Amino acid sequence: MKVGILGGGQLGQMLARSARDLGLEPLVLDPKPDAVAAQVARHLVADYEDPDALDEIAECDVVTYEFENVPPAALERLAPRVAVRPPPASLALSGDRLREKSLFRELGVPTAPFRAVDSRPDLERAIAEIGLPAVLKTRRFGYDGKGQAVLRGPEDVAVAWERLGDQALILEGFVDFDREVSLLAARGLDGALRYWAPTENVHVDGILHLSRAPAPAISEALFATGRRYLEAVLDHLDYVGVLVVELFQLGQELVANEMACRVHNSGHWTIEGAETSQFENHLRAVAGLPLGSADSRGQAAMVNLVGELPDLSALDDLADVAVHVYGKSPAPGRKLGHVTVYGADPEQVEARLERVLAVVGDRRRPPA
Ligand code: AMP
Repeated sequence: MKVGILGGGQLGQMLARSARDLGLEPLVLDPKPDAVAAQVARHLVADYEDPDALDEIAECDVVTYEFENVPPAALERLAPRVAVRPPPASLALSGDRLREKSLFRELGVPTAPFRAVDSRPDLERAIAEIGLPAVLKTRRFGYDGKGQAVLRGPEDVAVAWERLGDQALILEGFVDFDREVSLLAARGLDGALRYWAPTENVHVDGILHLSRAPAPAISEALFATGRRYLEAVLDHLDYVGVLVVELFQLGQELVANEMACRVHNSGHWTIEGAETSQFENHLRAVAGLPLGSADSRGQAAMVNLVGELPDLSALDDLADVAVHVYGKSPAPGRKLGHVTVYGADPEQVEARLERVLAVVGDRRRPPA
């Protein structure tokens, strides 16, 4: 069975590797000649809207994607000829923060207060209604904290407008969260649901630095609430594949921030830390295969390698530590790999995580 994958970055690479493990044949489309998924899959080097390349991808049995800004023209050419999963309608939603938050609200999933902002008077009105502090974000194409500005006081408004005001925007109330968590689920073609353990995420400069799963000290009741939110979204979209919702936790409440209709960085720990990884279950779902168990195998923690690769040889003698290097050239802010620590004993995993952070750099603490 052939699986087309739009996008050949590290997510495409890990999807392609899982596809091979499942006996599926991955075919990747990515305009970049050095796309890293090409290390493990046949690679079409062509634009996402290239008709010939799309015709070849359309010959696959199913098509999926590793990124959310898939051009509508590509989907229009593919959708009548081949099953595209997750459903393209979910891309239109998750790619637009206003539509995404409106859907959350419609489904009873709590969010920060928000307003659409298309003009400076809109912004003034939104600030009057929501109050400050608040976060001004582009509706589309924002990722890793890009395309947003925190408005702490009235003095920040003009600068933020100057920087972002030429695009469609959304103003959100600032959430004073205790921590950030994400919930990952897979929904099969038959509607079967699997939830991985909730993941605690630490971002630095808007980029995911560290994940722990199961999120320490998360109550079963809170997890159940989160599952209810996810199920509402998954069922509404008649979803097939892996979906992640990023949430803020405040006490015993969860407030949804955004969703991604694809495999996600905060689920990388599942490769070693769960019975079935997010990549495998995503492929199982889109290929119409039965889903595997998403149960945890113990405690796991994942650290991203961002910008430049440290000397990782110091990790060689550490047991239960998995190093993943994607083969990308270094650049500031670029995700080059990740390290996962796993084991049965959470305290031991935490102790080993500290040793890993000492080697790869703890971005939570500025260098001395
Ligand atoms: P996003 O691009 O929406 O994932 O935002 C990137 C990061 O900015 C989040 O992971 C949070 O740490 C922070 N952030 C985003 N929205 C808010 C908000 N409404 N209130 C407080 N912090 C936020």
